[in-house]
Amino acid sequence: MSFEKTRVRFAPSPTGPLHIGGVRTALYNYLFAKKMKGDFILRIEDTDQTRYVEGAEDYIKQSLQWLGLSLDEGPGTGGDLGPYRQSERKDLYATYAKQLVQQGDAYYAFDTPEELTAAREKAKEQGIHTLKYDATTRMTMKNSMSLTEADTNHLLQTSDNVTIRLNIPRDQTIIFKDIVRGEVSFNSNELDDKVILKADGMPTYHLANIVDDHLMQISHVIRGEEWLSSTAHHVLMYQFFDWAPPSFAHLPLILKPSGKGKLSKRDGAKFGFPVFPLEWDGGEDGVYLGFKEAGFTKEALLNFLLLLGWSSGDDIEKYTLTEMIEAFDLSRIIKSGARFDYDKAKWFNQQYIIEQSSNDLLNDVKAALSSNGVMDKDDTFILRFIELMKERVELMPDFYSKAAFFFEKPKNYDEKTIRKKYKIENQPHFDRMYTILENLAKFDAEEIQSKIKSYISDENLKFGEILPVMRIASMGTMQGPDLFASLELLGRKEVLERWNMFFQQLNN
Ligand code: GLU
Repeated sequence: MSFEKTRVRFAPSPTGPLHIGGVRTALYNYLFAKKMKGDFILRIEDTDQTRYVEGAEDYIKQSLQWLGLSLDEGPGTGGDLGPYRQSERKDLYATYAKQLVQQGDAYYAFDTPEELTAAREKAKEQGIHTLKYDATTRMTMKNSMSLTEADTNHLLQTSDNVTIRLNIPRDQTIIFKDIVRGEVSFNSNELDDKVILKADGMPTYHLANIVDDHLMQISHVIRGEEWLSSTAHHVLMYQFFDWAPPSFAHLPLILKPSGKGKLSKRDGAKFGFPVFPLEWDGGEDGVYLGFKEAGFTKEALLNFLLLLGWSSGDDIEKYTLTEMIEAFDLSRIIKSGARFDYDKAKWFNQQYIIEQSSNDLLNDVKAALSSNGVMDKDDTFILRFIELMKERVELMPDFYSKAAFFFEKPKNYDEKTIRKKYKIENQPHFDRMYTILENLAKFDAEEIQSKIKSYISDENLKFGEILPVMRIASMGTMQGPDLFASLELLGRKEVLERWNMFFQQLNN
């Protein structure tokens, strides 16, 4: 098989929002194309009108755009081998289906849905669980193989139910090489006579997929493992048409966090993490959270997805998009299922946040704060705040949820710490430290720390009994960045107000 150029396609069906597994497929296709200096193509597989969902195509495009996986060809992008939306190529497929009929590799079938149901029921009564339309049953059904030529011609003129099915041969071994799985083989007796052209004139996935892969000169088909068994049908069809098949690489499943079973759309809601790149309004199903809205940077999401099914073989975990292109290699795709580890995704995001300068983060942090009603802080304050918090957040919204005390007075206090650490006999000391803070020449972290610590030492107090209480008085909680730096950021007036409020409440 030789193709002049590496050309790969991402071929989603617009049946709903793009699942994170689909995003990984897009990423691996993109990386491989760029690595090989080839083309990355988007093809919208919308031949199943019953499953078409309004807005899904736009969602797919917006997701790829957000992630920076730019297209060389696709609907809206253009290219020489379009159109790239299968519904716009409808007429083309019938010609190919008829070619197969003429060659004897496919046949017309006229069974109505009711007749098929009846045949299935009958088979069940005879103990056959799932009736297969294949060489063993074909002659008992209503098709151009079982009927006379005259009957066939008559039905072709009059029936509303003309479909075309593949004529799968008996006793053949279909072998192909999968880049991930090695040699894969199927016995043709396991395959059914799949419908390739439906009664409405639309092709099914199988026909449209291989006709387009051929016409669009796709060199490598990189897709999810769920398509592996269809590949047997596809390989046979390439033989029927006498076309060179592309190379195949089937990506491992993405598993639930428990490792048991495939990660599903519903798992996101169930476990409280996103399984979609962007938010999606599912109407009656509710709104699905997106990685973007959950506060992930695109770099972190891509990095996380890279390692969900691929490994470089060394210890490197962090990759920029350029480094990914450099390092990526189809032969290092992992065979076994990849467990979705949300903590790992957050870890990546944390690394990307830490790496960015406070200035780079400014706008995103401002957005996270203002969506919580915090709008009165100037950039200088927010930049200092980012410095303090950067290493303590995993997701953008954490800048507010883990640090709301920088923007509003505590509404409640960590009772457990108070009970353990606060001693009434220390109250005069807290009062004196209040005065120290009130009179500090400069209210900065260094100055606060040196004066408070000297006081504690001079008075033979225990740091462990004083500092936690100061923290609770100022911030309400033990969680937070360095105490003295936090006090500096809050500012003298605010700290003193908070101490008044706290000690008054405590001693009432
Ligand atoms: N339309 C199929 C899907 O939705 C494409 C599978 C393939 O890449 O061949 O996943």
